Amino acid sequence: MHLRDIFTQYPTTFSFEFFPPKSPDAAQALFSNIAELQRLKPTFVSVTYGAGGSTRQITTDLVLRLRKETSLDAVPHLTTVCHTEQDIHEILTRYAQAGISNIMALRGDTPRDFAGGDPHKSFKHAADLVRFIQKFNRSGVHPDKRGFGISVAGFPEGHPDTPNRLLEIERLKAKVDEGADAIVTQLFFDNDDFYDFRDRCGLAGIKVPIIAGIMPITSIAGMKRMAELALGARFPAPLIRAINRTNGNEEAVKRVGVHWATEQCRDLLDHRVAGIHFYTLNRSTATREIYATLGVEDSAGLMPAKKNQ
Ligand SMILES: Cc1cc2nc3c(=O)[nH]c(=O)nc-3n(C[C@H](O)[C@H](O)[C@H](O)COP(=O)(O)OP(=O)(O)OC[C@H]3O[C@@H](n4cnc5c(N)ncnc54)[C@H](O)[C@@H]3O)c2cc1C
Repeated sequence: MHLRDIFTQYPTTFSFEFFPPKSPDAAQALFSNIAELQRLKPTFVSVTYGAGGSTRQITTDLVLRLRKETSLDAVPHLTTVCHTEQDIHEILTRYAQAGISNIMALRGDTPRDFAGGDPHKSFKHAADLVRFIQKFNRSGVHPDKRGFGISVAGFPEGHPDTPNRLLEIERLKAKVDEGADAIVTQLFFDNDDFYDFRDRCGLAGIKVPIIAGIMPITSIAGMKRMAELALGARFPAPLIRAINRTNGNEEAVKRVGVHWATEQCRDLLDHRVAGIHFYTLNRSTATREIYATLGVEDSAGLMPAKKNQ
C-alpha cells in the first residue's frame, strides 16, 4: 500500500526492519522469525540495502520473496552509493513490475574497502535519489499512477557528517521538498531527543509523518555494534547505569534492554507518534516481548482508536 494511503488508513504505523541474510541458514532463521513477527501484524516491513557487493542482490530477492510468499508489505531500502542512474532505473523498474509500493531512499555510506572513483558520482545526496524516483514515478511504469511512496532517513541527534544542527533540518527538508512522503529516524534512546527533533521539523515546515526508530538492546556486544552503526546515537547515563547493574549477566541485559525500549514505545504512543519502526536485527523475541509487555497481541491493539487511550 502506498505510504500516503497507509497514513490515511492507520493513525499509527508499526514496522519491522530486517537486513539481507548472508547464508542459507541465516535465511531460514530469518524466515522463521518473520513468521513469528507476522503475527504482530506490522503495517509494513523494510529490508536494508548494502553499500556494495553481493548483499544488494539479496535485498532485492528477499523483498520479492516476501511479496510472493507472505502477506507482508515489504519496503526495500535503496542506497545510491556506488550506483549509476542506469542501475537505479533498473532496480526501480524491477520493483515497479513486482508491484512494490514504497522505497526507503538513502544515500548510504562508502564501503571501507572501496577503491574505485567517486562513489557519489551519479547521486550526491539522498535528495537526488528522491528527485530521481519522482521522475521515474512520472514515467508511468509503476502500476500505481502515483508511483512509489518514498520514505527518507532523519537523525534526531544529528547525522555525524552534518556540520551543524540547523543545516540538518534544512537538508532533511530538501528531501521532503523533493517528494518524500515520510521520515524514518535513526535509533535513539532518549525520547526527548525525538520530540525536540519532531518540533524542529514542524518549525521548518516539514509536515510529513515522522516514524520513530527503536532498537532494543539485547546484549552488550550488540550495544557496541549498534554504537558503531548508528554513529552519533547517545546512550543516556540511566541506561548505561541499568546495564552496569546487570554485571554482564546476559539474561539481565536483555531484560533491561527490552524494558527500556518498551518504556520508550509506551511514551511515544502517549505522545501520539506517527509510527514506530523496530530495528529487529532479524530476531523476533525482543519485539514480541515489547508487544506483550505493552499488553497487546498485535499492532491493532496499539492503535489509539479507543476514547480512553
Ligand atoms: C531509517 C534508516 C535506514 C537506513 N538504511 C540503510 C540501508 O539500508 N543501507 C545503508 O547502507 N545505510 C542505511 N542507513 C544509513 C544511511 O545510509 C547513512 O546514515 C548515510 O550516511 C546517510 O544517508 P541519508 O540518506 O541520510 O543521506 P543524506 O540525506 O544525503 O545525508 C548524508 C549527509 O549529506 C549531507 N547533505 C545532504 N544534502 C546536502 C547538500 N545539499 N549539501 C551538502 N551536504 C548535504 C547531510 O547533511 C548528511 O551529513 C539508514 C539510516 C536510517 C536512519
